[in-house]
Amino acid sequence: RKPIIAIDGPAGAGKSTVARRVAAELGLLYLDTGAMYRAVTWLVQQSGVEISDEAAIAELVSQSEIELVQGDVDAGGTAPHALMPSRLHSSTPAPLTVLINGQDVTREIRTPQVSAQVSAIAAQGEVRRALVKQQKEYGRRGGVVMDGRDIGTQVFPDAELKIFLTASVQERARRRQLDLKEQGQPEVSLETLERAIFERDQKDSSRKISPLRKADDAIELVTDDLTIEAVVEKIICLYRD
Ligand code: C5P
Repeated sequence: RKPIIAIDGPAGAGKSTVARRVAAELGLLYLDTGAMYRAVTWLVQQSGVEISDEAAIAELVSQSEIELVQGDVDAGGTAPHALMPSRLHSSTPAPLTVLINGQDVTREIRTPQVSAQVSAIAAQGEVRRALVKQQKEYGRRGGVVMDGRDIGTQVFPDAELKIFLTASVQERARRRQLDLKEQGQPEVSLETLERAIFERDQKDSSRKISPLRKADDAIELVTDDLTIEAVVEKIICLYRD
Protein backbone atom coordinates (compact mmCIF):
# COMPACT_ATOMS: atom_id res chain seq x y z
CA ARG A 1 0.00 0.00 0.00
CA LYS A 2 1.15 3.53 -0.77
CA PRO A 3 1.18 6.05 2.09
CA ILE A 4 -1.90 7.67 3.58
CA ILE A 5 -1.95 11.13 5.11
CA ALA A 6 -4.79 11.69 7.59
CA ILE A 7 -5.78 15.28 8.34
CA ASP A 8 -8.32 15.68 11.15
CA GLY A 9 -9.51 18.63 13.16
CA PRO A 10 -12.46 20.84 14.10
CA ALA A 11 -14.70 22.74 11.70
CA GLY A 12 -13.13 25.46 9.61
CA ALA A 13 -9.51 24.77 10.53
CA GLY A 14 -8.55 24.76 6.84
CA LYS A 15 -8.35 20.99 6.48
CA SER A 16 -9.78 20.73 2.98
CA THR A 17 -7.76 23.59 1.50
CA VAL A 18 -4.57 22.22 3.02
CA ALA A 19 -5.34 18.57 2.22
CA ARG A 20 -6.15 19.40 -1.39
CA ARG A 21 -2.90 21.25 -1.85
CA VAL A 22 -0.78 18.66 -0.10
CA ALA A 23 -2.33 16.02 -2.35
CA ALA A 24 -1.60 18.05 -5.48
CA GLU A 25 1.98 18.77 -4.42
CA LEU A 26 2.72 15.15 -3.63
CA GLY A 27 0.79 13.67 -6.55
CA LEU A 28 -1.66 11.89 -4.23
CA LEU A 29 -5.42 11.56 -4.42
CA TYR A 30 -7.58 13.64 -2.12
CA LEU A 31 -10.73 12.63 -0.28
CA ASP A 32 -12.87 15.14 1.62
CA THR A 33 -14.85 12.88 3.95
CA GLY A 34 -16.84 15.84 5.36
CA ALA A 35 -18.27 16.33 1.87
CA MET A 36 -19.72 12.81 2.09
CA TYR A 37 -21.54 13.54 5.37
CA ARG A 38 -22.69 16.84 3.90
CA ALA A 39 -24.03 15.16 0.76
CA VAL A 40 -26.06 12.75 2.88
CA THR A 41 -27.37 15.68 4.94
CA TRP A 42 -28.40 17.55 1.81
CA LEU A 43 -30.20 14.45 0.55
CA VAL A 44 -32.03 13.97 3.84
CA GLN A 45 -33.15 17.61 3.79
CA GLN A 46 -34.34 17.28 0.19
CA SER A 47 -36.19 14.07 0.83
CA GLY A 48 -38.16 15.48 3.74
CA VAL A 49 -37.13 12.63 6.07
CA GLU A 50 -36.89 13.75 9.72
CA ILE A 51 -33.28 14.01 10.83
CA SER A 52 -34.11 11.93 13.89
CA ASP A 53 -35.50 9.09 11.76
CA GLU A 54 -32.37 6.95 11.76
CA ALA A 55 -33.96 3.96 10.07
CA ALA A 56 -35.29 6.00 7.15
CA ILE A 57 -31.92 7.76 6.79
CA ALA A 58 -30.05 4.46 6.83
CA GLU A 59 -32.35 3.25 4.07
CA LEU A 60 -31.79 6.44 2.06
CA VAL A 61 -28.00 6.09 2.39
CA SER A 62 -28.06 2.44 1.34
CA GLN A 63 -29.85 3.42 -1.87
CA SER A 64 -27.61 6.36 -2.68
CA GLU A 65 -24.39 6.74 -4.55
CA ILE A 66 -21.95 9.45 -3.53
CA GLU A 67 -19.16 10.33 -5.96
CA LEU A 68 -16.27 12.69 -5.34
CA VAL A 69 -14.68 13.68 -8.61
CA GLN A 70 -11.18 15.12 -8.62
CA GLY A 71 -11.30 18.52 -10.28
CA ASP A 72 -8.72 19.56 -12.84
CA VAL A 73 -5.75 20.53 -10.78
CA ASP A 74 -4.16 22.82 -13.35
CA ALA A 75 -5.12 24.52 -16.54
CA GLY A 76 -3.93 21.54 -18.55
CA GLY A 77 -6.27 19.25 -16.70
CA THR A 78 -3.48 16.96 -15.56
CA ALA A 79 -4.54 14.19 -13.23
CA PRO A 80 -3.23 14.64 -9.67
CA HIS A 81 -0.90 11.66 -10.12
CA ALA A 82 0.90 13.34 -12.95
CA LEU A 83 1.86 16.48 -11.05
CA MET A 84 5.47 17.11 -10.31
CA PRO A 85 5.87 16.50 -6.61
CA SER A 86 8.56 19.11 -6.06
CA ARG A 87 6.93 22.20 -7.48
CA LEU A 88 4.78 24.38 -5.25
CA HIS A 89 1.73 25.67 -7.05
CA SER A 90 0.77 29.27 -6.66
CA SER A 91 -2.97 28.61 -6.54
CA THR A 92 -5.12 26.07 -4.78
CA PRO A 93 -6.30 23.21 -6.99
CA ALA A 94 -10.03 23.04 -7.70
CA PRO A 95 -12.28 21.58 -4.99
CA LEU A 96 -13.76 18.16 -5.54
CA THR A 97 -17.00 17.97 -7.45
CA VAL A 98 -19.56 16.20 -5.26
CA LEU A 99 -22.30 14.13 -6.85
CA ILE A 100 -25.09 12.32 -5.08
CA ASN A 101 -27.16 10.01 -7.23
CA GLY A 102 -25.62 11.73 -10.22
CA GLN A 103 -26.63 15.24 -9.15
CA ASP A 104 -23.93 17.88 -8.68
CA VAL A 105 -24.33 19.25 -5.13
CA THR A 106 -20.86 20.80 -4.77
CA ARG A 107 -22.28 24.19 -3.81
CA GLU A 108 -25.45 23.08 -2.07
CA ILE A 109 -23.58 21.07 0.57
CA ARG A 110 -21.75 24.20 1.84
CA THR A 111 -24.80 26.17 2.92
CA PRO A 112 -25.34 27.06 6.61
CA GLN A 113 -28.51 24.90 6.51
CA VAL A 114 -26.45 21.79 5.73
CA SER A 115 -23.70 22.82 8.20
CA ALA A 116 -26.29 23.16 10.96
CA GLN A 117 -27.59 19.61 10.63
CA VAL A 118 -24.62 17.60 9.41
CA SER A 119 -23.33 16.76 12.91
CA ALA A 120 -26.65 15.18 13.91
CA ILE A 121 -26.55 12.97 10.84
CA ALA A 122 -22.84 12.17 11.19
CA ALA A 123 -23.56 10.90 14.72
CA GLN A 124 -25.80 8.11 13.38
CA GLY A 125 -24.25 4.65 13.42
CA GLU A 126 -25.59 3.39 10.10
CA VAL A 127 -24.55 6.54 8.27
CA ARG A 128 -21.02 6.27 9.64
CA ARG A 129 -20.77 2.57 8.91
CA ALA A 130 -21.73 3.10 5.26
CA LEU A 131 -19.45 6.10 4.69
CA VAL A 132 -16.44 4.73 6.59
CA LYS A 133 -16.70 1.56 4.48
CA GLN A 134 -16.52 3.67 1.30
CA GLN A 135 -13.62 5.68 2.70
CA LYS A 136 -11.64 2.55 3.54
CA GLU A 137 -12.30 1.20 0.08
CA TYR A 138 -11.14 4.45 -1.50
CA GLY A 139 -7.89 4.38 0.49
CA ARG A 140 -7.30 0.66 0.12
CA ARG A 141 -4.32 1.11 -2.19
CA GLY A 142 -3.04 4.19 -0.34
CA GLY A 143 -1.66 7.25 -2.07
CA VAL A 144 -4.39 9.38 -0.53
CA VAL A 145 -4.72 12.49 1.60
CA MET A 146 -7.97 12.17 3.55
CA ASP A 147 -9.47 14.86 5.75
CA GLY A 148 -12.20 14.57 8.35
CA ARG A 149 -12.74 14.02 12.08
CA ASP A 150 -11.91 10.34 12.57
CA ILE A 151 -9.45 9.46 9.82
CA GLY A 152 -6.47 9.02 12.15
CA THR A 153 -8.50 7.36 14.89
CA GLN A 154 -10.98 5.13 13.00
CA VAL A 155 -10.76 5.08 9.23
CA PHE A 156 -6.97 4.69 8.86
CA PRO A 157 -5.48 4.31 12.34
CA ASP A 158 -2.35 2.99 10.59
CA ALA A 159 -1.92 6.07 8.36
CA GLU A 160 1.74 6.92 7.75
CA LEU A 161 1.25 10.57 8.72
CA LYS A 162 -1.48 12.00 10.95
CA ILE A 163 -2.04 15.72 11.29
CA PHE A 164 -4.47 17.39 13.70
CA LEU A 165 -5.19 20.87 12.35
CA THR A 166 -6.68 23.46 14.69
CA ALA A 167 -7.12 27.21 15.13
CA SER A 168 -9.06 29.41 17.53
CA VAL A 169 -12.83 29.61 17.03
CA GLN A 170 -12.49 33.32 16.12
CA GLU A 171 -9.97 32.64 13.40
CA ARG A 172 -11.98 29.74 12.02
CA ALA A 173 -15.13 31.87 11.88
CA ARG A 174 -13.21 34.57 10.03
CA ARG A 175 -11.97 32.06 7.46
CA ARG A 176 -15.41 30.55 7.04
CA GLN A 177 -16.82 34.02 6.38
CA LEU A 178 -14.27 34.52 3.61
CA ASP A 179 -15.07 31.09 2.15
CA LEU A 180 -18.79 31.86 2.02
CA LYS A 181 -18.07 35.17 0.34
CA GLU A 182 -15.85 33.53 -2.27
CA GLN A 183 -18.52 30.98 -2.98
CA GLY A 184 -21.09 33.74 -3.51
CA GLN A 185 -23.15 32.55 -0.53
CA PRO A 186 -25.19 35.06 1.52
CA GLU A 187 -23.16 36.91 4.15
CA VAL A 188 -23.29 35.60 7.72
CA SER A 189 -22.05 37.59 10.76
CA LEU A 190 -18.87 36.52 12.55
CA GLU A 191 -20.82 36.07 15.77
CA THR A 192 -23.27 33.67 14.09
CA LEU A 193 -20.42 31.75 12.47
CA GLU A 194 -18.50 31.49 15.75
CA ARG A 195 -21.57 30.10 17.47
CA ALA A 196 -22.27 27.64 14.64
CA ILE A 197 -18.67 26.41 14.60
CA PHE A 198 -18.56 26.10 18.38
CA GLU A 199 -21.82 24.12 18.43
CA ARG A 200 -20.67 21.84 15.63
CA ASP A 201 -17.37 21.13 17.43
CA GLN A 202 -19.29 20.36 20.62
CA LYS A 203 -21.56 17.90 18.83
CA ASP A 204 -18.70 16.29 16.90
CA SER A 205 -16.56 15.89 20.04
CA SER A 206 -19.32 14.60 22.30
CA ARG A 207 -20.98 11.99 20.09
CA LYS A 208 -20.68 8.35 21.11
CA ILE A 209 -19.36 6.91 17.84
CA SER A 210 -15.95 8.07 16.60
CA PRO A 211 -15.95 11.50 18.24
CA LEU A 212 -13.65 14.22 16.98
CA ARG A 213 -10.36 13.77 18.79
CA LYS A 214 -6.67 13.95 18.09
CA ALA A 215 -5.10 10.53 17.56
CA ASP A 216 -2.34 9.91 20.12
CA ASP A 217 0.26 9.76 17.36
CA ALA A 218 -1.04 12.76 15.38
CA ILE A 219 1.01 15.93 15.06
CA GLU A 220 -1.00 18.97 16.11
CA LEU A 221 -0.62 22.14 14.05
CA VAL A 222 -2.21 25.32 15.41
CA THR A 223 -2.72 27.48 12.36
CA ASP A 224 -3.90 30.88 13.66
CA ASP A 225 -0.67 32.58 12.69
CA LEU A 226 0.30 30.39 9.77
CA THR A 227 -0.42 30.92 6.09
CA ILE A 228 -1.86 28.09 4.02
CA GLU A 229 1.49 27.85 2.23
CA ALA A 230 3.33 27.45 5.54
CA VAL A 231 0.99 24.69 6.72
CA VAL A 232 1.23 22.86 3.39
CA GLU A 233 5.03 23.08 3.43
CA LYS A 234 5.20 21.88 7.02
CA ILE A 235 3.09 18.81 6.21
CA ILE A 236 5.14 18.04 3.12
CA CYS A 237 8.34 18.26 5.21
CA LEU A 238 6.86 15.93 7.84
CA TYR A 239 5.82 13.52 5.10
CA ARG A 240 9.27 13.45 3.54
CA ASP A 241 11.10 12.98 6.86
O1 C5P B 1 -15.18 18.74 7.24
P1 C5P B 1 -16.57 19.33 7.25
O2 C5P B 1 -16.66 20.52 8.15
O3 C5P B 1 -17.10 19.59 5.89
O4 C5P B 1 -17.46 18.18 7.88
C1 C5P B 1 -18.83 18.35 8.07
C2 C5P B 1 -19.31 17.47 9.21
O5 C5P B 1 -19.26 16.11 8.84
C3 C5P B 1 -18.55 17.56 10.52
O6 C5P B 1 -18.98 18.64 11.34
C4 C5P B 1 -18.86 16.22 11.16
O7 C5P B 1 -20.12 16.23 11.81
C5 C5P B 1 -18.98 15.31 9.97
N1 C5P B 1 -17.76 14.54 9.71
C6 C5P B 1 -17.55 13.41 10.46
N2 C5P B 1 -16.48 12.61 10.19
C7 C5P B 1 -15.63 12.91 9.21
C8 C5P B 1 -15.82 14.08 8.43
C9 C5P B 1 -16.89 14.89 8.74
O8 C5P B 1 -18.31 13.11 11.38
N3 C5P B 1 -14.61 12.10 8.94
